[in-house]
Amino acid sequence: MAGSQEVAIVGAGLAGCLLACYLARRGHQVTLYERRPDPRAEGAERGRSINLALSERGLSALRGIGLEEQVMAEALPMRGRLIHPVRGELDLQLYSSDGLRSINSISRARLNAALLNAAEQHAEVRFEHRLTGLDPVTGTMRFEGGQEEKAAVVLGADGAGSAVRARLAEHAGLRERTDFLGHGYKELTIPARDGEFAMDPGALHIWPRGTSMMIALPNPDHSFTCTLFWPDEDFDALGSPEAVARHFGEVYPDAVPLIPDLVDDFAANPVGRLGTVRAVPWQAGGRVGLIGDAAHAIVPFYGQGANCAFEDVVVLDRCLDETGDDWARALPTFERRRRADTEAIAEMALANFVEMRDKVASPVYRLARRAEHA
Ligand code: FAD
Repeated sequence: MAGSQEVAIVGAGLAGCLLACYLARRGHQVTLYERRPDPRAEGAERGRSINLALSERGLSALRGIGLEEQVMAEALPMRGRLIHPVRGELDLQLYSSDGLRSINSISRARLNAALLNAAEQHAEVRFEHRLTGLDPVTGTMRFEGGQEEKAAVVLGADGAGSAVRARLAEHAGLRERTDFLGHGYKELTIPARDGEFAMDPGALHIWPRGTSMMIALPNPDHSFTCTLFWPDEDFDALGSPEAVARHFGEVYPDAVPLIPDLVDDFAANPVGRLGTVRAVPWQAGGRVGLIGDAAHAIVPFYGQGANCAFEDVVVLDRCLDETGDDWARALPTFERRRRADTEAIAEMALANFVEMRDKVASPVYRLARRAEHA
């Protein structure tokens, strides 16, 4: 199977849009199916990770389609992590000894919009198309409402709860497991103060508290998005506005004056679940494949899920190069080449949760870091 193919991508999120750009450049006829309405018109979903850290892996994938400069124009570089103890001095831990290497805080909505704009130039994007059924042998997809479409190749870029993956489990022998973390996440906002950042915008802020933590990343509008990562039962334990105010006053005292809507936001914003998805295989019959979170969602503590999804696209593009766009060979090659790396980052992300919520606060750890950078 070579030459120009009709390729359907399910999910116009980060991986799906980037993939559409790369595949259209190869001459394929790409259609993106997305369950949501156009997010550029609707605005971001409340409480759904409104910014993320993008590092070199992700940036180099964007560079491949000429998007790096546009995305980086709005990025806020974070040169290290700034640790907030319950009491005492803040501790800046640089990512590199010269302080020159950074990771970048990016608005997820703006990143997705930039990718959608790019994808639309080369591919058809159909919003409000939720995939509900798929025949992996014929490539026939069914969408909510009963509409059917067919493609030579179907790629599932539909995220951690992938419907494509579920259909492969039903019809093509895929085995899958999601290990939920037992910790959830909830977002809060530190707004701009007199039009300026209320804290240092050049760092990723961490409030490590042993079994739980809060982090904050800067946004271009001079606000910060805070994310609480707490054991599931800790969210339920704060049953009244007084309990919320008391808990934050005791555990995150320096943050309380910076979050004026703390009690309301805590009550209104949802708790998201976190988990690691493991699936085998990632493709069926050389015709249907999985990419990004659909294949290997990880917990967010290394800030690498989106970076990894972007890197998937580059690796798949290379596999298509090597096989002359023979999908039956390219999809299994992609899986062979990528699996070990994605399994490794899944383990590292779990380990980094312990480092961020606990180890970074220990004096021994801090001394060791300083010695490393001396
Ligand atoms: P998604 O972004 O989830 O996109 C999937 C798309 O498919 C969505 O548009 C969805 O609407 C659509 N879809 C779903 N089901 C269907 C269906 N049935 N039919 C049609 N369309 C469908 N990563 C980083 O690199 N750095 C970070 O700092 C970072 N921070 C994070 C913080 C949190 C709290 C969380 C939860 C995640 C974080 N991540 C981070 C991970 C990152 O968000 C994901 O890895 C990334 O979004 C994966 O991209 P994707 O395109 O595979 O999936």
